[in-house]
Amino acid sequence: RPAFDVQAVRRDFPILQERVNGRPLIWFDNAATTHKPQAVIDRLAYFYQHENSNIHRAAHELAARATDAYEGARNKVARFLGAAQTEEIIFVRGTTEGINLIAKTWGAQNVGEGDEIIVSHLEHHANIVPWQQLAAAKGAKIKVIPVDDSGQVLLGEYRKLLTSRTRIVSVTQVSNALGTVVPVKEIVAEAHRFGAVAVVDGAQSVSHMRVNVQDIDADFFVFSGHKIFGPTGIGVVYGKRDILEAMPPWQGGGNMIADVTFEKTVYHGAPTRFEAGTGNIADAVGLGAALDYVERIGLENIARYEHDLLVYATRGLLTVPGLKLIGTAQDKASVLSFVLDGYRPEEVGKALNEEGIAVRSGHHCAQPILRRFGQEATVRPSLAFYNTCEEVDTLVAVLKRLAGNTGRKAR
Ligand code: PMP
Repeated sequence: RPAFDVQAVRRDFPILQERVNGRPLIWFDNAATTHKPQAVIDRLAYFYQHENSNIHRAAHELAARATDAYEGARNKVARFLGAAQTEEIIFVRGTTEGINLIAKTWGAQNVGEGDEIIVSHLEHHANIVPWQQLAAAKGAKIKVIPVDDSGQVLLGEYRKLLTSRTRIVSVTQVSNALGTVVPVKEIVAEAHRFGAVAVVDGAQSVSHMRVNVQDIDADFFVFSGHKIFGPTGIGVVYGKRDILEAMPPWQGGGNMIADVTFEKTVYHGAPTRFEAGTGNIADAVGLGAALDYVERIGLENIARYEHDLLVYATRGLLTVPGLKLIGTAQDKASVLSFVLDGYRPEEVGKALNEEGIAVRSGHHCAQPILRRFGQEATVRPSLAFYNTCEEVDTLVAVLKRLAGNTGRKAR
């Protein structure tokens, strides 16, 4: 019996039965968002049918059920990431909100004039803009780790950027624009030698490889539920307990306080201090179900299958005349970025859509790295474990037809 049965996996995802423009849907936009297995859809329905309540605040039965479900999900996330303690997991809306939380709490408290924040050239705008805002407010400086022509970060150059003024190093584990797998463990270790805190953006990594935050030794690790087969509107900030306990809150309100008078508020500890107001309870529970699902299949099985699929897809794309891959690092996950002679990326995206194939074409919210490669936009198929070699064949066939048609293309 094969360790990984893609057809069985596909049956778990009802949306994969959709047809688009008369063809079976081929979903190659997994870096933008992933689809949800029936187990997640059912878990959300079960919550609203049997458990729905606000949490932590009432003596009644449904409040207890909802609180158990929500805190149970936090526990699943902690185990999934290999966190030392459940209290190290904060629920937020997603990666974007998570990075903003870190910038506006730890950053506001610890970054001052003349301090330095290091990011890599590969970063998504979500891992650039919050740091720029912080730097502007504090008079701090942003430094950028350059990449080589394959799209891999240059560790030697990174070491030269570190100084005693470095407060934060924030890097993605997998590039959403090129697919590069970044050696975050080494980057974190070097940051720590200079007393900086290390933030890892796991938005594109957690669904493709086993992550252990203690092994990476990240001070913060952030990801989005919707990119790992969970609901939208829920995400996670992992932070080391001692760091979280020393951090001020960011949003104030209900749920996050121990005591309030008009003179003074005493805050809860982590993680509730960072979860003001009614959070996204059902979707946190849904995320827990998504992680259970992924664990049942096994991240090692997923990584192995996807690696083979990525190699297969890379070989296939390279047979398309006039196609240029952007991002050719040795170590890549899921993402293929390319441009095709004679076509603008959005034209390729539209032509693929006519065949039922969903890809992203554009700048992928990562303009600096595309410009590093002389592009304003690329076409980006991105894979998940429910994709197949046959789907890749269809993609390659359509691209070959386009490549053969450039002469006849209406301009
Ligand atoms: N970082 C990376 C690397 C991403 O790929 C994304 C999503 N494209 C984000 C951050 C932002 O995630 P979200 O939109 O879920 O907040």
